[in-house]
Amino acid sequence: MSPNPGESAASLASRLARANYVPLREFLRDMGIKPSDLLAGEDVALQRLAALSGIPVAEIGAGTLRFQGDDAWFGDVRFPSRMVGGRLVRGCPDCLQIQPGLLGIWSLPFVMICPEHRRPLITLWAVQDELDRHDVASRLPELELRDETLPAQRDVSEFERWFFRKAQRTGEQGRLA
Ligand SMILES: [Zn+2]
Repeated sequence: MSPNPGESAASLASRLARANYVPLREFLRDMGIKPSDLLAGEDVALQRLAALSGIPVAEIGAGTLRFQGDDAWFGDVRFPSRMVGGRLVRGCPDCLQIQPGLLGIWSLPFVMICPEHRRPLITLWAVQDELDRHDVASRLPELELRDETLPAQRDVSEFERWFFRKAQRTGEQGRLA
């Protein structure tokens, strides 16, 4: 499985399922991964995915939100878990044309732009079921990304740069250091 730095564990699981020609739910069941563990960023799910994909667990963890009680963690950033989630899935269309996966950072509140492409994030799809929502390998082929409908590139603000640095750091409070 080709690594996609910053990809979330659920997105990686979706790509693994697709590579094995099985639906995501069936793949998780057969591999002994609980969907709730996967979506909460639990170590047990990440370690299993690391073993299956050959991608180091620390790398998977760096792109995955972790929920602990009322808190959500991403890198060194902590915020109330109720601020994350919802039916909408956002992403950078330029990134998706290069790598067909969802980056965990796109699901954070405050993140409105891809710093690499200076492209405001767009809503990719809206799905009620939480697992299906992250099943990027099933949804991406149906997505039409036409250049003329994309938001114009803009500069990344100083605050945004600071936030991205912080979110991409894994300190003692964050993920598997
Ligand atoms: Zn991008």
